[in-house]
Amino acid sequence: MKAQPTASHFIDGAYAEDTAGATIEVIYPATGEVIAVLHEATPALVDRALASAARAQTAWAATRPVERARILRRAADIIRERNPDLARLETLDTGKPLQETLVADWPSGADALEYFAGLAPTVVGQTIPLGRDFVYTLREALGVCVGIGAWNYPSQIACWKSAPALAFGNAMVFKPSEVTPLGALQLAEIFVEAGLPPGLFNVVQGRGGVGAALATDSRVAKVSLTGSVPTGRKVYAAAAAGVRHVTMELGGKSPLIVFDDASVEDAVGAAMLGNFYSAGQVCSNGTRVFVQKGIKDRFLDRLAARTAKILLGDPLDDATQMGPLVSAVQLDKVLGYIATAKSEGARLITGGGRAALNSGYYVQPTVFADVTDAMTLAREEVFGPVMAVLDFDSEDEVISRANDTEFGLAAGVFTADLTRGHRVIGQLQAGTCWINAYNLTPVEAPFGGSKQSGVGRENGHAAVEHYTQVKSVYVGMGPVDAPY
Ligand code: NAD
Repeated sequence: MKAQPTASHFIDGAYAEDTAGATIEVIYPATGEVIAVLHEATPALVDRALASAARAQTAWAATRPVERARILRRAADIIRERNPDLARLETLDTGKPLQETLVADWPSGADALEYFAGLAPTVVGQTIPLGRDFVYTLREALGVCVGIGAWNYPSQIACWKSAPALAFGNAMVFKPSEVTPLGALQLAEIFVEAGLPPGLFNVVQGRGGVGAALATDSRVAKVSLTGSVPTGRKVYAAAAAGVRHVTMELGGKSPLIVFDDASVEDAVGAAMLGNFYSAGQVCSNGTRVFVQKGIKDRFLDRLAARTAKILLGDPLDDATQMGPLVSAVQLDKVLGYIATAKSEGARLITGGGRAALNSGYYVQPTVFADVTDAMTLAREEVFGPVMAVLDFDSEDEVISRANDTEFGLAAGVFTADLTRGHRVIGQLQAGTCWINAYNLTPVEAPFGGSKQSGVGRENGHAAVEHYTQVKSVYVGMGPVDAPY
């Protein structure tokens, strides 16, 4: 199986290569096979990418918003037409099953392009009357924005960052995760085909060093990162040196609270979606499932029965429900967390080991019960199909335990009592919340974290704030009243 792109990078409207850059092997996680070999961007290529973005951005910002919108909408149409091929490539890049990549990855990217295309012409300023004089405000583009992606939703992340950036008149230089570099190149091709002028969306490949070079360049106005909290701290600090704007979409250890009046089937289904979709490699997963004692046994019975039926297999097979983890590194990390959970006394309900399928990086969907707040499994982000079930008695108790974490990305509540649902959500420290649902992230709704889980928001009208800046213009309508 091969998925070798034309070249490693896409700069100024065309593919670019420099074999002097260190190699990046792209591995199909279901077999361990090398499907493409790319090169990291050299400093000269990073410079070319930033220079072409800076060149193209001024004219783009001066283009009528409806014209920018038309191009983005065309790109969304092309994505939808090619979704089957794009989904297959996403599956090869990430190991996620076609069942997911056909409906979740590129389609949500197309939604973002369509949404921000619609929003672009509506972004307007204000007029502030001051008697004789007045002030008007303009919402202007920031300039050159850098996007740095994680490997779990590589193409969705490329779209979620580039759509608002481009819609509001910015240029973007995007660095995908070195683990999943392929999808962003397809997006670059699609943008050109849709009519986007060269230089406005460039892709440079590389590891952290290339990301750091981008985040510290004086031509860059904003850095938007999706990644882990430790990387977020570094990138935030690097951006701060140049007082750059940032959006930080980081990790989580989110609580999903199930009260004993909840529908067991719905709560179990949501907990499974919120722990096993994408083999658990989703930032907003509800990885601390707090279950009220009165419903605990029924919840665990149904959870064990339904989890045992999850179909692991070849991600390219339409029937497969769960694929491998993205890499050997991630496999070792997740197996390490499972071993620690066992040694710290968590009770294994199902799963608990590697799944022997080809030579892929498969882990069985795993559930631990009787997890306590102090266990490593309840404190650290695992990023694999490992669910921790914790017990609780009262509402006040569960709220304070749910908030006892450095993270604040997401939270969910299952209850038949709507008043309680809103009351509890109102007290949870998290940027993205659900009541009687989990992990649905439509582009219309702002998405992002509080506490260590991030800064800024993607999607929704909130993204306007993060990809534009306000200029105030005071207009004097009479003589200047100077005391000298
Ligand atoms: P990571 O932090 O290892 O890497 C993220 C990106 O940062 C990669 O492209 C990497 O090359 C780059 N990078 C690393 N060091 C850098 C540096 N010093 N300067 C600039 N760039 C640097 O994360 P990952 O393992 O790719 O992804 C998993 C993490 O992402 C998880 O913690 C997950 O929760 C988080 N995530 C968050 C969201 C969200 O929206 N909140 C979404 C998806 C994933």
